[in-house]
Amino acid sequence: MMFTRFKINYFLILICFFLCQDLANAAVQPPQITPEQFTQTEFKLIVFLGRPGAGKGTLAQHLISRGYKHISVGDLLREELRQNSALGLKYRKYIETGHSLLPPNVVESIIFKKIVSSIHSQDKLVLDGFPRTISQAQALETLLKKNQVDHAVRYIYIKTSEKNAKARVLGRQVCTNCHAVYHIKFCPPVSSGICNHCKNKLIQRSSDNERDILKRMDVYNTSVHGVIQYYKKSRNLLEINGNKTIAHCINSLDRRV
Ligand SMILES: [Zn+2]
Repeated sequence: MMFTRFKINYFLILICFFLCQDLANAAVQPPQITPEQFTQTEFKLIVFLGRPGAGKGTLAQHLISRGYKHISVGDLLREELRQNSALGLKYRKYIETGHSLLPPNVVESIIFKKIVSSIHSQDKLVLDGFPRTISQAQALETLLKKNQVDHAVRYIYIKTSEKNAKARVLGRQVCTNCHAVYHIKFCPPVSSGICNHCKNKLIQRSSDNERDILKRMDVYNTSVHGVIQYYKKSRNLLEINGNKTIAHCINSLDRRV
């Protein structure tokens, strides 16, 4: 009798333990976004994260062919300058004093302004190269929540080994006209040095060299990697195996967005 009671008590304690753990997890982690919630919204935001050379540009290109708009900080800046907006004037002041790199808060303002206008126009956006820090990631979450579109975002991590990423960057060629991305070995154009889509000349970006790629990998390892861990903890990160072929990555992406 004593033994049975002991067994029942032990069993109850175990159940309580697991229930409490579940409750604790639920309290710490926000609920996951369901696929239904995501597809129901017109406005969508895809955020690509991964090493330089992981294939963010190639996958962004694929989403553009599906009606997404690519957020390019450079293009947005040129537009602000053309319109002589407050942001544009801030930027002009900055470049006139001899700076080439923009302060993070200016980049953040420009991206956020574009996101807010896209929420109103119900556009689909793809963003890469941002956020680079956890505080930027939190600011982005706050912005989406404030505009009640936090369910319309997908954070996608393209996981690639450093060796593969480096090989991709060093063989990369881009079209200066339509921004299509090629690779001399993995994804060569039909005619060498010529864009398949617009027949423009392909170039290698000046920053795609051995020395610069090491610097960018360092930035990734010290900063962006932390952002990826942050999203992993919040259970909002989807992962694509970037070491596989481009066709495989595109297929994985299409199943998720
Ligand atoms: Zn082109």
